[in-house]
Amino acid sequence: MTIEKAMKILKTVDGIECRFPGYTTALGIAVQALEKQVPKKMHLGTAWGVCPTCDRIVETIQFFKPSYCPHCGQAVIWEE
Ligand SMILES: [Zn+2]
Repeated sequence: MTIEKAMKILKTVDGIECRFPGYTTALGIAVQALEKQVPKKMHLGTAWGVCPTCDRIVETIQFFKPSYCPHCGQAVIWEE
């Protein structure tokens, strides 16, 4: 199952009433965590990028470009 499919199912379940305390909140947190696993394109600068989720600057170190934003954990792609 893909992350996108899992998110679609979990978002559908989110609308269903559940009697377990905190279930809806926990489900929302789980969906947010899954969403960060789907890579998004960085907004590119010369030696840095801006995270598309938290809008914070992520610097590159020489040729190393991190796969995840160190600030919020968003999976990122360094392509134009
Ligand atoms: Zn971020």
